[in-house]
Amino acid sequence: MPIYNAPTKDLQFVLHDLLNVSEQDIPGFDDLDRDFTGAVIEEAGRIAAEVLHPLNVVGDTEGCTLENGVVRTPTGFKAAFEQMKEGGWTAMDCDPEYGGQGLPYVMHSAAQEPFVSANMAFNMYQGLTHGAYSAIHAHGSDAQKQTYLPKMVTCEWTGTMNLTEPHCGTDLGLMRTKAVPQADGSYKITGQKIFISAGEHDMAENIIHLVLAKIEGGPEGIKGVSLFIVPKFLVNEDGSLGARNGVAVGSIEEKMGIHGNSTCVMNYDDATGYLVGEEHKGMRAMFTMMNEARLGVGLQGYAQAESAYQNAVAYANDRLQGRDVTGPKNPDGPADPLIVHPDIRRNLMDQKSFVEGARAFTLWGAYLIDRAHRNSDKDADGLISLMTPVLKGFLTDKGFEYAIAAQQIYGGHGYIEEWGMSQYARDARIAMIYEGANGVQALDLVGRKLAQDGGKHVMGFFEMVKTFLKENEGNEALKKDFLDPLKAASKDLQAAGMYFMQNATKPNNALSGSYDFMHMMGHVCLGLMWARMAKAAQEALDAGASDKAFYETKIATGRYYMARQLPSTAMHLARINSGGDTVMALDAANF
Ligand SMILES: Cc1cc2nc3c(=O)[nH]c(=O)nc-3n(C[C@H](O)[C@H](O)[C@H](O)COP(=O)(O)OP(=O)(O)OC[C@H]3O[C@@H](n4cnc5c(N)ncnc54)[C@H](O)[C@@H]3O)c2cc1C
Repeated sequence: MPIYNAPTKDLQFVLHDLLNVSEQDIPGFDDLDRDFTGAVIEEAGRIAAEVLHPLNVVGDTEGCTLENGVVRTPTGFKAAFEQMKEGGWTAMDCDPEYGGQGLPYVMHSAAQEPFVSANMAFNMYQGLTHGAYSAIHAHGSDAQKQTYLPKMVTCEWTGTMNLTEPHCGTDLGLMRTKAVPQADGSYKITGQKIFISAGEHDMAENIIHLVLAKIEGGPEGIKGVSLFIVPKFLVNEDGSLGARNGVAVGSIEEKMGIHGNSTCVMNYDDATGYLVGEEHKGMRAMFTMMNEARLGVGLQGYAQAESAYQNAVAYANDRLQGRDVTGPKNPDGPADPLIVHPDIRRNLMDQKSFVEGARAFTLWGAYLIDRAHRNSDKDADGLISLMTPVLKGFLTDKGFEYAIAAQQIYGGHGYIEEWGMSQYARDARIAMIYEGANGVQALDLVGRKLAQDGGKHVMGFFEMVKTFLKENEGNEALKKDFLDPLKAASKDLQAAGMYFMQNATKPNNALSGSYDFMHMMGHVCLGLMWARMAKAAQEALDAGASDKAFYETKIATGRYYMARQLPSTAMHLARINSGGDTVMALDAANF
């Protein structure tokens, strides 16, 4: 049985030593003192470890079943969902007007990590509901908000996001689902959506589907897409549940991972739908909640790597194989534990330095979202918009890579289901695909975000790195191990940015390098996070922090990232500079 313990101390370190949340001039942040955030994270960690984690393997092995139109979730999911609802965990950052607790998004994200690490498939029921809540909250009418949000905040009603159709996932302009206006102002929705997470299940009284569809006679392509609320059960004037709507699950998918989450084909047959926001502005409505949704998927990536890493460390300490090359460490035993071997150390350090950097990057992103929303800060909004494809694409690629790396520590046992390591890799894999496949994230970054507002946000990011380097140039403890590598990597990133500017009229050149740029930027972001964390840890040590080992470990882990991971920006730059010719050289027939 795999283990999981919430990294409460690391989460607190990021919130307080790195982000200084309680000192920020953002409404609601002054409540986030160490005692409060500590209590929330401890309790989230306890529930994650004691309630959700034991159900992770159950969900994987049992999966969901469909019988007579009813989807049953795995044993124990329903009771655990009730516990999450009763504890108010579904409502943390939701609007108090609709029953939420109004806590900052950064607090919500910090509490989410243990839930996602412990049981990603389970947490998606609540995660999708949160996404649907945000879309209605941002774009719904007052009446829609009053009707749906209070029940969605508590997860008595869950939510879904219906974009994908059999013939289109990325290119949603090809969508065929139709919406026909009715005399009473509602619409009749007809069409098929596939791969709908939590589309049908037995844990909620009602399911509120958010559906993208084209209103008949509207503009062609993506400009003709509108967003609709389609409840499973229609809601009466008094808020009680009415007739069953014309939406039904057709089948559930057999898939590689997240077996505990139902992935449904949803058939809409003259289903009653209610327009959210304006006609033909459905994509805009979806996009306003994209930053949060994609940050949440990035979190899934590193949260799976965190769980896998914890198990890999335990195994490396336990499994006896071979001897330490510098002399036995377990002379009375038949062999030394795996953890003595440099190559095992390399692998574990790769995992550890990624996960801790990713946690900082994600919570920094969540803090930017709070700053953008709560302070109406346009720069923060622009910066998080730039970072969103990086948070999603880089963290999920690496999260999967390190879930596999953790599996490798187990040798053959990692490949055997009994040890639970394959589940982390299988579950992590989907995060690279949904919510916009990672190749499309790279496209968004290079094709759209770099040039957004005249390149202001990427220039702002370069400036931020430059300012940090300048402010700390006299810090000898940081210079060689942190500042110099960050400076070099940032220079690589700027050179790549320059290449894209010079190749703006040669799209094949630019887009052949987009994936490399996304990874390069991810590395620079983690490098910046590590330099800041090292500084914070050094300051804590200088101030006589009692937990010396914790802060020294932080600095040593950061040093590893800067020395062994960050230099990959040079390789990415070389690839980008090689242009698109080698990428595009073959005729399609020659593949
Ligand atoms: C388990 C699971 C859960 C899901 N949950 C949901 C959900 O809740 N709601 C929902 O609406 N959808 C959901 N999806 C669908 C998911 O979001 C899509 O599968 C995804 O967006 C990709 O769409 P597609 O599968 O049609 O691939 P395609 O769009 O056909 O893309 C195939 C490949 O081509 C690449 N590609 C496409 N266009 C370009 C381009 N212009 N340039 C470069 N590369 C390109 C993509 O990156 C991808 O690698 C889910 C999918 C799965 C498997």
